Amino acid sequence: MTKSIKRIFGIDLGTTYSSIAYVDEYGKAVIVPNAENERVTPSVVFFDEDNIVVGEVAKESAKLYPNEVVSFIKRSMGEPNFLFEYNGEHYRPEEISAYILKKLAQDARQQLGEEVTDVVITCPAYFGINEREATRKAGEITGFNVRQIINEPTSAAIAYGSIDSTENRVVLVYDLGGGTFDVTMIAISKEAVEVICTGGDHNLGGKDWDDRIVAYLVERFQQETGTNEDILDDPDTWQDLQLSAEKAKKILSQRPKTPISITHGGQRVKLLLEREKFEELTEDLLDRTIDFTREMLQAAKEKGHDSFDEIILVGGATRMPQVSEHISKAFGITPKVFDPDEAVAKGAAIYGWKLALNDDLIRRISEKTKKNIDRIENITELIDRKEISAEAFREAAQELAADTGYTLPSVENALQRVINVTSKSFGIVAHNPHNEEIVFNLVLRNTGVPIKIRKNFYTAADNQRTVLIRIMESETNRIEIPLEHAMDIKTAVLHLPSDLPSDFPIEITFDLNEEGRLLIMAEETRDSQKVTVEVDTASVIEGEEFELAKLRSQRLVVH
Ligand code: AMP
Repeated sequence: MTKSIKRIFGIDLGTTYSSIAYVDEYGKAVIVPNAENERVTPSVVFFDEDNIVVGEVAKESAKLYPNEVVSFIKRSMGEPNFLFEYNGEHYRPEEISAYILKKLAQDARQQLGEEVTDVVITCPAYFGINEREATRKAGEITGFNVRQIINEPTSAAIAYGSIDSTENRVVLVYDLGGGTFDVTMIAISKEAVEVICTGGDHNLGGKDWDDRIVAYLVERFQQETGTNEDILDDPDTWQDLQLSAEKAKKILSQRPKTPISITHGGQRVKLLLEREKFEELTEDLLDRTIDFTREMLQAAKEKGHDSFDEIILVGGATRMPQVSEHISKAFGITPKVFDPDEAVAKGAAIYGWKLALNDDLIRRISEKTKKNIDRIENITELIDRKEISAEAFREAAQELAADTGYTLPSVENALQRVINVTSKSFGIVAHNPHNEEIVFNLVLRNTGVPIKIRKNFYTAADNQRTVLIRIMESETNRIEIPLEHAMDIKTAVLHLPSDLPSDFPIEITFDLNEEGRLLIMAEETRDSQKVTVEVDTASVIEGEEFELAKLRSQRLVVH
């Protein structure tokens, strides 16, 4: 009988739709359909008294109960001021996202008869430090052991690379989802999936195409009925038009025209929307994605990468035929449409599966060599450094393959590394020689992660007990930037031992890990006295609020 490894699920927590996948006993990534037998679940949450309804029913309820329904919550991830109020209680984006995750997990448990405990969750490549942290927190509120947060394009590239990983190639992942656009250059080889450069806009996605249709419908309604009333002020009409627009957009991906009817205030207008008109209404949106792509290519060039082999399309909105056409025209290469709705969840599942295989391999190698290995970053290096023998590795891999029924190459491929870059620059507030406050960037965007930066800070007075460090995030590529070009994301307060003289060095380590989380440590190097760091951020749920959300999420039933 074959033994199985720990199952780690992959979750695509999307702006408009979410999905969950796992790797089956044949090593193939499969999507778990939801209770409604759909492969994707609308990321929409309906607060219905003591019930939380997520998915299609919530999406449809938005029309009747616009104030009780939350959509596009991902756009608010990491926003300090977003609070949804319902029945006198407040909900942060993390908690609302946790309900979506809970629905996915519940449905998967029902389908598979197995609890979802460990997960890999994806987020857009350009998510900053707080948005990533918030995504992780959403998973933790759900009760998951969040193994890693990985980037959506990387995930898509993993799914793509797992299909044919024999040859080395550089791909551009053009990902146009419901609310976000990103474009990423990734090198895929047998040894690694390496992100070279990334760019995008987190306020550009399929929804913007819908909005253009909505605006056009309003205009046509006004023309036909002779009114100049803004019919979108009526929430029912607004909701109706949003749904009709999205539907029309999808039909136009298949057909040259579609009928649409607009009903408002007892009047009805029927019209025919042609694909050509739709393309004309939205051409500038597509142009923006091309501009972002060129910008990213320029940044890649500056890093010494000036060519790519193929473009792959992911994200539901790349189904619009004009996307391929535009890209072909702009870059002289026909993009490949690759599993646009499912690639991200599947890639995350494959990544999770690799983590599980890795865990198992490490356990076996540790047992064989009687050495405590906590992770394998680079197996060749470990073998080269003679920390483990090639035989021990081969034997462990063979045993694992025999026990699980997975092929030996797939077990060996589990060691394929994923190398990421940071999509933002981060730095600290400091004074320049003119004594003006500026941001001094410690890490520039598109630098490979993990990365550790050490920096000395000096006490300003005798017996100083605290040092405050303001941590800032930005999208520029310069070392020194004005304060207003960056965003405050965290403050770190160092609690110092007493009796330190003025001008005393404290070494701070900023550790930007492989998933883009920032850990901060501080050390007083002379007498090795303890310095504690208290990190505070207003944009991520923490402390009591986090515990409360966790409790509430356990209590609430999600449908
Ligand atoms: P994603 O976030 O990747 O799930 O993408 C969702 C977006 O893709 C939404 O804006 C959908 O309206 C859009 N979408 C899904 N299917 C199609 C289609 N057939 N044609 C055009 N857009 C689509």
